[in-house]
Amino acid sequence: MSVSLGIPQIRSAGPAPSPAPARAGLVDRHGRRATDLRLSVIDKCNLRCTYCMPADGLAWLPAAQLMTPAEITRLVTVGVDRLGITELRLTGGEPLVRGDLEEIIAAVRAGHPGLPISLTTNGIGLTTRAPALAAAGLSRINISLDSLDAATFRALARRDRLAQVLAGAEAAAAAGLSPVKINAVLMAGINDHEAPALLAWALERGFALRFIEQMPLDADHGWTREEMVTAAQIRARLTTRFRLTPHPGARDGAPAQLWDVHPGPGDDAGGGPLGTVGIIASVTEPFCGDCKRTRITAEGRIRSCLFSHEEVDLLELLRAGATDAELAERWQAAMWVKPVAHGMERPGLDSPDYVQPARSMSAIGG
Ligand code: SAM
Ligand code: SF4
Repeated sequence: MSVSLGIPQIRSAGPAPSPAPARAGLVDRHGRRATDLRLSVIDKCNLRCTYCMPADGLAWLPAAQLMTPAEITRLVTVGVDRLGITELRLTGGEPLVRGDLEEIIAAVRAGHPGLPISLTTNGIGLTTRAPALAAAGLSRINISLDSLDAATFRALARRDRLAQVLAGAEAAAAAGLSPVKINAVLMAGINDHEAPALLAWALERGFALRFIEQMPLDADHGWTREEMVTAAQIRARLTTRFRLTPHPGARDGAPAQLWDVHPGPGDDAGGGPLGTVGIIASVTEPFCGDCKRTRITAEGRIRSCLFSHEEVDLLELLRAGATDAELAERWQAAMWVKPVAHGMERPGLDSPDYVQPARSMSAIGG
């Protein structure tokens, strides 16, 4: 049985609550400028990660509601040419579930030779598709991997697919999509003990590992602050085996706090760092003030924030024959009212500031 989530309030037309002044780019009332577009190509997925999806899946969008390659390309072009978008990430659901992903990437690349295009994926299918994705013009890849143990992987993803993900990561590297980035979410008592092993595995292969704090965006609404593995706890786990020092350089809107990784006490023979590790502390060390993101869901709706309760329909406008200028104007109005922060700054989900969005992570496009 699939679950149908409530859809957030949708504005398809009409003025934004406080009209956006005429200005270049995707600016908001709080002085931020969005230059990084996260676009979901599909809501469907072939895994059921407990922190994201319910066991029975969700009610998937009908194919006709998904953006076509031409529609995706048109919106990206409006974003890049008129609104100052400088980076594109394709996500989902699971983007590799779309058989025409290579076509989407090739179409965007044809119009934007210099645009960094990255992909966030669970890696299943990369063994056969990584070379074609690279040839289509994909610049970089993030592969989600939470455990190196088959039973733990199965418990977390509710599917027995560890071998395919590991092979997919190797295939991505072999296809030249380097440096491969790995995203890991830690769950208390399930895989948090694996943090050092995941880091050692990534360092050995030259993969860039980033831990992401679990956010309350699961369809089952099972998140609790008490059970969430915090950035501080992740650092503590890692320092049982490695020594971490802050990576030099400004963060500049990047969500991951980067650390240089050195061998642990006793193993340290001098020399430089073994590599870096990133920790994305969206809950305990939020970075909303520096956010550069704008999002489009698989059915073409703008979300100004991961945690938004409101969406603005861009695809409907496009399908009604809007000009590029009209699409850009609606996009700007949607971003102007971006919330100042996600509301989890104060501890406790009973905080009046935090209300979990109706959509879960896979349906938003993480
Ligand atoms: N299916 C692809 C994948 O897993 O990489 C792309 C979509 S998934 C929603 C994107 C990223 O969001 C993944 O790295 C996943 O681990 C992360 N994610 C999903 N639910 C999350 C949650 N509740 N908290 C933090 N990260 C989450
Ligand atoms: Fe699917 Fe990615 Fe969500 Fe896991 S995190 S269920 S792979 S969309």
